[in-house]
Amino acid sequence: MEKQKLLNAFENYSKNAKKSIIESQLNNNEFFMTWEITNLCNFSCDYCQNSAKKTQKKENPRTHQEIVNAFNNTKKKWFINITGGEPLIYPGFLELVSELSINHYISIDTNLSTDDVYKLPNIKNPKNLMGIFSGVHFADRDKYKSNLDDYIKKVRFLQDKEIMVFASCIAFPDAYEDAKNQIDYLIDNGIKFISPKLYIGEYKGKYYPYDYNKQYLKKMETLKTCFEFDFIEFDRKTKGKTCLSGKKYFYMDKDGDLSRCSTISTKLGNFFTDDFDTILITKKCTADLCILAFEGIFLTKRNKKCVIRNLF
Ligand code: SF4
Repeated sequence: MEKQKLLNAFENYSKNAKKSIIESQLNNNEFFMTWEITNLCNFSCDYCQNSAKKTQKKENPRTHQEIVNAFNNTKKKWFINITGGEPLIYPGFLELVSELSINHYISIDTNLSTDDVYKLPNIKNPKNLMGIFSGVHFADRDKYKSNLDDYIKKVRFLQDKEIMVFASCIAFPDAYEDAKNQIDYLIDNGIKFISPKLYIGEYKGKYYPYDYNKQYLKKMETLKTCFEFDFIEFDRKTKGKTCLSGKKYFYMDKDGDLSRCSTISTKLGNFFTDDFDTILITKKCTADLCILAFEGIFLTKRNKKCVIRNLF
């Protein structure tokens, strides 16, 4: 799998493609996982869909070596997108990522708030660090130790080290000017890859992203300086559509429990205690709406009988 080819495949996404992107870009032995490594977070942003907690019932009891072994023992090459909560506050996170990077690709969703960011380029195989996806959180930054200047400094550091880092600003349904000001500020401060990110959840009696106005989205899209999944035209009404989640892609929670995707949380098995090959399923989507555009775009393929509708 090549980073640039994968990005190009997303940019050129066609809802009429016969193959899903995961099939066309990953070979038979490559698999993809989104791993919610912790649900703890040092921020507490109002709009966070993961409703990050300050405490969790128990820590993951597994050692780093047990975790690395579990991935290696599948004899597959994984693209692991590590999310949270805030991954950087997971105990020994850098050491774990460093070991995983030897055999697997890594990307990280993070608020970049800890100084461990400066050690990321020193992991054992930085070439396998595929990308850093960072929320800017303008309104929240000043509440925490990591203010906006600190955030900008870290993004520029990673850029200088040629690590691909994406900055995203939440685009509330009535806050175009605010998003524009934020993005202009980041551009003026040397940040390269920036995009508005669509709000997910209820806002003033409507439910987003489904209720975004089409013209508003087009206007918002003009602000982005890089690729962003949220602006790809994708029909979220996926029920009955063939989807490779559960077969080539999994969502894993902090305890190792696997489900198909962010939308369908039915447990398939446990990554650390079950035989991975017995977990695999191929099924049509059973959800009324696919919550995460990225997963749907990545994993679904054209169904001859499926009526394609546009969301926007
Ligand atoms: S909700 Fe989305 S990712 Fe999950 S099975 Fe349906 S199409 Fe696939």
